[in-house]
Amino acid sequence: MQFASQSGEPEPASPRISAALIDSLFETPAPLLTGLIFGVVAAAATALKTGEPSIWACVGLLILAGAIRAFDLRRYQMRKSTLTADEAARWKNRHQIGAMIQAAAVGIWSTTTLLVSDDAVAHMISLSTTTGFVAGGAGRAYGRQWIYQLQATLCFGSTVVALALRGTPYYIVMSVLCAAFLVAVIQISANLHRIFMRALVAREREAALAGQFDSALNNMPHGLCMFRVDGQLAVMNHRFSEMMNLPDDLVQSGPNASDIIAACVSGGSVSSENGNLILREIEDRRVRELLTTDPDFARGRALSWTFQPMADGGTVVLLEDITERKNAEARISHLARYDELTALPNRVSFHDEIQRLLANSHHSERLSALLFVDLDQFKQVNDTLGHPCGDQLLCAVANRLREMLRPEDFVARFGGDEFVVFQQNISSPEDAASLARRIVERLSERYRIDNHLVEIGASVGIALTSPDGGASADTLLKNADMALYRAKADGRGTFCFFRDEMAATVEARRILELDLRKALANEEFELFYQPLVNLKSGKITTCEALLRWNHPVRGTVSPVDIIPVAEDMGLIVDLGRWILRRACMECMKWPDGVSVAVNFSPQQFHQRDVLSEIRYALEVSGLPTHRLEIEITESSLLRNTQLTHDILSQLHALGVRISLDDFGTGYSSLSYLHNFPMQKVKIDRSFLEGIDADRPLTLLRGVARLAADLGMSVVVEGIETNEQLELISADGTITEGQGYLFSRPVPAIRVRQLLNASHGRRSPDDQLTIASRSIA
Ligand code: C2E
Ligand code: MG
Ligand code: MG
Repeated sequence: MQFASQSGEPEPASPRISAALIDSLFETPAPLLTGLIFGVVAAAATALKTGEPSIWACVGLLILAGAIRAFDLRRYQMRKSTLTADEAARWKNRHQIGAMIQAAAVGIWSTTTLLVSDDAVAHMISLSTTTGFVAGGAGRAYGRQWIYQLQATLCFGSTVVALALRGTPYYIVMSVLCAAFLVAVIQISANLHRIFMRALVAREREAALAGQFDSALNNMPHGLCMFRVDGQLAVMNHRFSEMMNLPDDLVQSGPNASDIIAACVSGGSVSSENGNLILREIEDRRVRELLTTDPDFARGRALSWTFQPMADGGTVVLLEDITERKNAEARISHLARYDELTALPNRVSFHDEIQRLLANSHHSERLSALLFVDLDQFKQVNDTLGHPCGDQLLCAVANRLREMLRPEDFVARFGGDEFVVFQQNISSPEDAASLARRIVERLSERYRIDNHLVEIGASVGIALTSPDGGASADTLLKNADMALYRAKADGRGTFCFFRDEMAATVEARRILELDLRKALANEEFELFYQPLVNLKSGKITTCEALLRWNHPVRGTVSPVDIIPVAEDMGLIVDLGRWILRRACMECMKWPDGVSVAVNFSPQQFHQRDVLSEIRYALEVSGLPTHRLEIEITESSLLRNTQLTHDILSQLHALGVRISLDDFGTGYSSLSYLHNFPMQKVKIDRSFLEGIDADRPLTLLRGVARLAADLGMSVVVEGIETNEQLELISADGTITEGQGYLFSRPVPAIRVRQLLNASHGRRSPDDQLTIASRSIA
């Protein structure tokens, strides 16, 4: 809604204001009619007194003008509907014309009387009537200011002129006085008009504000009540009475705060206890917030009441339904503390809970145990039967665990297939062992999931609180986790108690990991090389690169200790890259006929860009592809069989040779020899144990012959004695040998000397080393 400008003369801005102005012109018929009648009577009196025909004519004119105005007035009052804008404009014109005619008639009569007669009485009558007419009009015609101004000028202007025309000093003084009166009365009328307009606009604005306030109040989502200082209700919106279930006629009865609260209580929306609290807050007039819930639980609503004191001493009460917000908050906090799938407490809430229990049981004689439970083979179920089945299995596990516990124990899911049980108040470690045993057994029983019979196992790590107390939740969890690690290492499906030395092992491992990371950056690694000797020619064909770590404190660390840790840490890829490049570059310094063999761990072999890594190493070193041999173990062939096959084929196509290392220690599957494109088999040195007995030798020869038949060369590792060498080289199927008998793994510089000796450029010492131990 628009409002008129506040500054300067207010202008009618709306049809309602225009109509009000027109109304003001017609609204008081009595003074108008009285004025008309008195005008005619006064004129008739002057005509009678003077007997002047022209004054009689003026009487006639006044009667005619009066009749026209009275007729208009009647017509206006007879009209039924409220004025439209067009009608208001028409009535305004009619009023103006009528007013002008009447003013002109009065002016003509007064001027005529003053000019045509010398009768002082007639002059007095006409002058006082005209003055009264103009003065009366000022009070009546404020609604249309300029009409009045014209009217007054028409009526009184000519009278002023006529007075002046009489020429005598008194008449001239009267003329001046009348002129001043005319100006004053026009001024008064202008002021009245202004006041009137302001009042109209203010009324209009108030009405608009009231309308807006009303719709805002009734459309707001909050319930609202305003109480006056004496506690009487000033305002209440629909939402409030709707939320409080109040009777419709309550507001009409002029209630006070206690009536309203009593109605809220009887409507079942607040308890009488809360009702008293609310009433007290209204009376206390302080800023406060109060939360209530419906006593009628069927509705289960949470309400927020806000009390706000008003400047004049009353109170505003705001009421909000916060049920949804409360529910959402409750859900969020539930989600933050419980596992959605199994509805078990999660890691956070478990941790808080046992922290609390441990603090309480500080001086207790009894023990508590924390059992870390991990499912074995869960991943396989998930992978083969799909995640929905995996989820069902986890729920079934959660249920079995719940069923097994006493009321004071509790279980949580830590994510994945990890569950944790807290067993309170036990008398000895045997109680924890017994529970762990039962958990392993119960969880290993078959599950029926979607018509599948599923079998999994479980391993449990146990940490006990010490009798002197003081164990924190974090320590217990960490210890149970270490014990679990050991239980799994011990072959799964079992349980293990935490022991202090486990912590030492874990700590040592942690330090080793830190050192390993630094070692790569600090170039603390070195490659040693061990020759593979052709058993017929006695010449070195290949040297195997073997990792050594020269640690400032640990001394030289064996790859057996480094490689598994580097694999676990994921460091093996970077480390393997360094080994490969370094070995290729070293090989470039050797005689042309000698190759280098580099060990690849399964992780390294299955990295995405293994081929480009190998190509790059060959490229930067300039080593011909046929001089590189990659040693892989059977475990590299186990996973991703097709992918593995592809990689091996591509390496083969490139010209790189592949040898199968440590054959005989793993599955020793002969099908590998057949299925994968490999050029060499290295038979593990464990085959040499008891080689003088018949069976191992037969086995070794059998494998060697098979490999040879498949076109592969055969190497036997770990030859330490001449006897061993003689036995294995007797039938000629074994092509190469490797072992301390020929040479231990030696630093790069030393292997170069060996190679020079083996390939003609010999130094006296080296000649001795190789030649005396070779049977060639
Ligand atoms: P491997 O590839 O089978 O290497 C042969 C291991 O047997 C070497 O141990 C070598 O020193 C040892 N050996 C050689 N001849 C004899 C002998 O006559 N008697 C005895 N008792 N041992 C002998 P090393 O250097 O300690 O390496 C152990 C294993 O560590 C290697 O076995 C290999 O699997 C791994 N490895 C070594 N270097 C690397 C590497 O650079 N990368 C990867 N991925 N693994 C490596
Ligand atoms: Mg090897
Ligand atoms: Mg080996």
